[in-house]
Amino acid sequence: MKHISRVIIDEESDEVSSRTASPIRIKAEPRLFLEEEDKTNEAIGTFENLERNIYLYKSIGKCSEQQDTMTCDCREDWDSESNLACGPDSDCINRLTNIECVNGHCSCGSDCQNQRFQKKEYSKISVFYTGAKGYGVRAESFIPADTFIYEYIGEIIDDKEFRTRRAQYDSEGIKHFYFMMLQSGEFIDATKKGSLARFCNHSCNPNGYVDKWVVGKRFKMGIFAKRDIIKGEEITFDYNVDRYGSNAQKCYCGEPKCIGFMGGKTQTESARLLPHALNEALEI
Ligand SMILES: [Zn+2]
Ligand SMILES: [Zn+2]
Ligand SMILES: [Zn+2]
Repeated sequence: MKHISRVIIDEESDEVSSRTASPIRIKAEPRLFLEEEDKTNEAIGTFENLERNIYLYKSIGKCSEQQDTMTCDCREDWDSESNLACGPDSDCINRLTNIECVNGHCSCGSDCQNQRFQKKEYSKISVFYTGAKGYGVRAESFIPADTFIYEYIGEIIDDKEFRTRRAQYDSEGIKHFYFMMLQSGEFIDATKKGSLARFCNHSCNPNGYVDKWVVGKRFKMGIFAKRDIIKGEEITFDYNVDRYGSNAQKCYCGEPKCIGFMGGKTQTESARLLPHALNEALEI
């Protein structure tokens, strides 16, 4: 966040000194991709579209027992048809600590508002062709800041399987891997099986972020809106694509402050993404 705000201030001061003393804030308009063809169906044909994660074995991907048994203090709050408890403006302690409520567990009643992963409350998105970056994901409607956009679904694997697959995909000539770290020694692999979230590209100035949530006994990763996202905008987050921990890859994000390469210098809250995580895990 610090990085982003500095960028905006720099642009503003340039504008002020070179043209006018007007205090109007000049902000770059986000680029919209409303005209590009919808390639969602074509993109879905390139991988196995999963409804939920596949776990390599039963005990993988689990949170601690302490997290799994957390309850909030919210009360049931029904209008005519839905339970409004634990909503975005509530002080729900579960929601504030990235834990989803599970029916029958808290006193907030069934089907409260804090079950976005469980209910697949995804934002409207589609896949389009970006050019240099291949497929990308765009917003099909306005997405307010902090909205849950999509779950990053895939196969949950351990460190050993991760190393095996990395070598295997390399020998198969697969250039783009879709590994994301779930927790120490555990990864989501969306390379061959995953969700549409796998098509979100990197940006040096992203409008989305990745966050980890406790859902039942498991950790899950979701993509969320970092700011308001307009219909037609590409949805991006900050990750480091140098998945081998060796050569940095050229960045095509097109942001004024693009650092030119993906990997290394863009370490932020998404540092749990490769390759930093990979580097740590492999001690490169
Ligand atoms: Zn609650
Ligand atoms: Zn609840
Ligand atoms: Zn960039």
